[in-house]
Amino acid sequence: MKYQKLINQLLRGYNGIDSLFYVNLILIILCIVLNIFINNFFLSLIQLLLIILIVFRIFSKNISARQKENRLFENIIRTPKKKIKLYWNIIKNYNHALYKKCPYCKQMIKLPLKKGKHDVICPTCKKKFTVKCNRNEKLKVEVVNDRV
Ligand SMILES: [Zn+2]
Repeated sequence: MKYQKLINQLLRGYNGIDSLFYVNLILIILCIVLNIFINNFFLSLIQLLLIILIVFRIFSKNISARQKENRLFENIIRTPKKKIKLYWNIIKNYNHALYKKCPYCKQMIKLPLKKGKHDVICPTCKKKFTVKCNRNEKLKVEVVNDRV
């Protein structure tokens, strides 16, 4: 993100903004929204602690320790993030592609939608397997230009 780079240039010598900043920000916004409806003291306390944490992390001069925390967090969310992205692509390409797992190496493969049984060679392990597809690609019909 462009503005993140700019902010981090302004905060040279400090930790600045990283992935954990965004998570904290989302949590603070969630607390604020929840507090509108619930109006709970502990929620306000959590909100305050999160704000203190966000300010502490931005202006911390112990950059290596903050980067270590950020890397740890990024390692934890890497796998769920990949899975969410994959499922999002499966939903997005539902009318154009078929996603199948290779039975040998468990690699997810994206295939074109064409009704029938097809022999597929896995690009990762090069083993052959059969895929049955019961849908054809839905073609999107668009008007290119108006009638003359
Ligand atoms: Zn494979």
